[in-house]
Amino acid sequence: MIPDNCNSCGLCCTLGIQLSKKEIAAIKELGYEEEHFLEPKEKLLKRVNGRCVFLIPKKGGARCEIYEFRPRLCRDFPGEKKCAFSKHPIFRISGNYKKIKKELENQTGVKAP
Ligand code: SF4
Ligand code: SF4
Repeated sequence: MIPDNCNSCGLCCTLGIQLSKKEIAAIKELGYEEEHFLEPKEKLLKRVNGRCVFLIPKKGGARCEIYEFRPRLCRDFPGEKKCAFSKHPIFRISGNYKKIKKELENQTGVKAP
């Protein structure tokens, strides 16, 4: 269940998420090949156009294709406080991250908090 303090903007799914061996095995058990969801030669979730390969941006909010099985680092978001991830300096400093944020907001119609 999505926590009350998350509006499903999907912005935190632009991070590089490190996976444990156990998490990799669990995702493979769902039927996904490593080539589909891992960066080559790394234990990082693959990002395509700057966002996780499992993110599905839809009007009204982004969805995670493996939500019930998402890695521990994904589960840490948003934590207990109000989410303020878009205030992270990277979204002001990096043109690429600014672009990804804008694209997500356009696709979901949800403004990142
Ligand atoms: S950035 Fe915050 S509000 Fe947006 S999906 Fe992640 S936890 Fe939810
Ligand atoms: S696995 Fe799901 S929650 Fe984690 S980064 Fe990817 S889309 Fe987001």
